[in-house]
Amino acid sequence: MNRRLLVIEDNEQNMYLMQFLLEKNGFEVVGADDGARGVEAALACDPLAILLDIQLPGMDGYAVAAALRKQATLAATPIIAVTSYAMVGDRERILAAGAVGYIEKPINPETFVAEIIQYFSPRWDKAEA
Ligand code: MN
Repeated sequence: MNRRLLVIEDNEQNMYLMQFLLEKNGFEVVGADDGARGVEAALACDPLAILLDIQLPGMDGYAVAAALRKQATLAATPIIAVTSYAMVGDRERILAAGAVGYIEKPINPETFVAEIIQYFSPRWDKAEA
């Protein structure tokens, strides 16, 4: 069963925290620290879901989401935005770019895993069956 998640995040502390929480809950984490590497990793590792920071060097999260949505093999892979970029309209903009959900930083260690699982649990249940 695939319990692999791709985390695209340039901030080391956030990456460390997400990886720690996810691995503690039995997920395998593949990390990418910029958008271009994130797209490459998504194609290479076939993740269950993708956690995507919006503010990234070079290619931002909107561009990454759009690039991921163009890949036929990733068409069913949920993208969950994880960002502090919480200006009015940003939520709509990242959902329009192809994300299924949006989580605001700072990451709450108590609720983070439950929050992200809600966005891909239907797919996960299918993989477990
Ligand atoms: Mn960032």
